[in-house]
Amino acid sequence: MARRRFTFFYNAKVKTWDVIVIGGGIIGLSLAIELRKRGATVLIVERGEPGREASHAAGGMLVDWAAETPAALQELAMASARMYPEFARELQVESGMFVDLREQGAIVFPAPEHVHQRAGFKLENLPSASLAELEPALADHMRPAFLLKERSVDPRALTTAALAATKRRGVDISSGEEVTAVKVGNGKVCGVTTNKTSYQAPKVVNCAGAWSGQLAPHNFPTRPVKGQMLSLVSPSPSLLKHVIRAPEVYLIPRSDGRILVGTTTEEAGFDKTTDVATIQRLWRAAISLIPELRNAKILEDWAGLRPGTPDALPFLGETSTPGYYAATGHFRDGILLAPITARIMADVIAGKNCGYELEAFSPRRFQP
Ligand SMILES: Cc1cc2nc3c(=O)[nH]c(=O)nc-3n(C[C@H](O)[C@H](O)[C@H](O)COP(=O)(O)OP(=O)(O)OC[C@H]3O[C@@H](n4cnc5c(N)ncnc54)[C@H](O)[C@@H]3O)c2cc1C
Repeated sequence: MARRRFTFFYNAKVKTWDVIVIGGGIIGLSLAIELRKRGATVLIVERGEPGREASHAAGGMLVDWAAETPAALQELAMASARMYPEFARELQVESGMFVDLREQGAIVFPAPEHVHQRAGFKLENLPSASLAELEPALADHMRPAFLLKERSVDPRALTTAALAATKRRGVDISSGEEVTAVKVGNGKVCGVTTNKTSYQAPKVVNCAGAWSGQLAPHNFPTRPVKGQMLSLVSPSPSLLKHVIRAPEVYLIPRSDGRILVGTTTEEAGFDKTTDVATIQRLWRAAISLIPELRNAKILEDWAGLRPGTPDALPFLGETSTPGYYAATGHFRDGILLAPITARIMADVIAGKNCGYELEAFSPRRFQP
């Protein structure tokens, strides 16, 4: 008897997501969490390990001082700074991790051109007696200084907590997979192609940091701006309480006794190596501010790539390809701007009014 042959039609349903986020730095992770909170299904595609690029390299100063923030960005910077305590608290609760949000403030030794910029910037002039009381270890208590009520956070702890929170909320993450193209069909986005496969979604957000400009169909003019830093083990736990910002160097204390010393601003392409001379120079500058740091051990040095743009403003919004969005180019403020970026972009992607004027941040602004 002839054997009957059966043909099986495997009707596998192709999985799709509401939104694909390209890049798992602090911007991509924060946005994915916000989108999940609003009920969207989200896939993050990350070329390496989430949170290991600029977001890993950052100092974590949450600077919203007008003298250091471009005017067009001040409203968002201030709003994001206000959101931080709740943003950090939520991530801590969801991840069970400590992100070291510090409220002690920053002592600013201004550059000469900024000495007269106190008025209106919530700055208190610090008499030398107060400076000596606040930070006895400083070498010079006579130098003009302001006290700034700004916070700092540990960006590595923050991104680790954000990654844990995305997983807990059911965001899908594909690590070690590079997006090679954003797929467009019938004039709108339909997903992404990677070096391994392709994924489908009607909405895609480019959160690829310094690499954002490498992805067609819109080559955003982002560029890497290198910053070198080092961390020291403080010789005594209470040596430094405030962030110190001086034109030559800044010092960021962490609650576990580390002190971060930064940084440089270099146009060096995608090179992330550190060089001994620069690290030594930063360390010497730190010692000139706090002589006791000559007894501190160098724990680590590193370099990271800030996502720079021609006008130092981020790209936030929809591109000229329907369904394709950008949330990138946060340059030196991406840690600060993560909460407000997530909120604004979740509104924009949902087609809602975000309550902010975004024209200055349009992803189309450099298109011919
Ligand atoms: C030395 C230094 C100090 C800093 N200090 C501060 C500070 O004190 N305060 C502050 O607010 N900000 C600071 N910043 C800036 C801040 O780190 C950045 O603005 C922020 O981390 C940008 O986050 P991001 O998620 O856009 O980028 P990233 O963290 O770089 O993440 C982008 C991700 O996209 C991935 N990716 C890229 N291309 C692809 C692709 N094709 N497919 C898939 N994945 C891809 C990358 O692997 C990366 O993980 C500092 C930066 C540096 C370097």
